[in-house]
Amino acid sequence: MTLPRAIGRLFHQAGMTGRPSEHLWSEALGSLSMISLSDPRVIDTPVADCGEPLADIATAPAITLDPRERDEHGAYGRVRTGVLERLRSASKRLPAGIKLLVIEGHRSPAEQARRFALHENRLRRSGISDPAELRRQVSAFVSPVEVAPHCAGAAVDLTLIDPDGVELDMGGAVNGHRTGDERWCPFDAPGLSPAAQDNRRLLAQCLREEGFVNYPSEWWHWSYGDRYWALVTGAPAAVYGPI
Ligand SMILES: [Zn+2]
Repeated sequence: MTLPRAIGRLFHQAGMTGRPSEHLWSEALGSLSMISLSDPRVIDTPVADCGEPLADIATAPAITLDPRERDEHGAYGRVRTGVLERLRSASKRLPAGIKLLVIEGHRSPAEQARRFALHENRLRRSGISDPAELRRQVSAFVSPVEVAPHCAGAAVDLTLIDPDGVELDMGGAVNGHRTGDERWCPFDAPGLSPAAQDNRRLLAQCLREEGFVNYPSEWWHWSYGDRYWALVTGAPAAVYGPI
């Protein structure tokens, strides 16, 4: 039985009549599949750091680095050597002419804390005051520092470009949550055009085959080796901790 059918039966058994709305469907699916980075199971996941250094993404000509998130120390352009190797392999799986465009790799803990506070303030101003609810909603888009995949050099925010360097239509911008465009951020956002769905699938396929996992509320965020990855894949421990 498919997951939607299973959920449909759940609604039926709960005594609901008629067809559940699209909103209810997506909410139910989300609650079943989404583990938040603020989930206690993520921080409880052990780390056995393998000690790999950070490597410059610019040393891999097959991958394009976008400067829009450039930081003073150039952290954005680095990931763990093993992550870079996997990105190289993933890029070889793409159709001719299509390339990976990396927006951001490593992020310092101080920068992560600044972003968490920024998004928290934004949501507080929008009227969310309950501390637990606030943390849950902030964590949908910005990781708490202690478990942040970017701080481990394990995560990349990335998209695809064509031979002219133009980004493929993904049905929403990278980091769309910063501009109030949350609707299109989830990987499986309802209402995406067929072209955007195809392009997201293309990105996902090459990355999944190299072992990366997606954070479902951000179609552009993929990681390998961090705590979230370990929890989702069932690995005994993360291989990359904060660096
Ligand atoms: Zn990210």
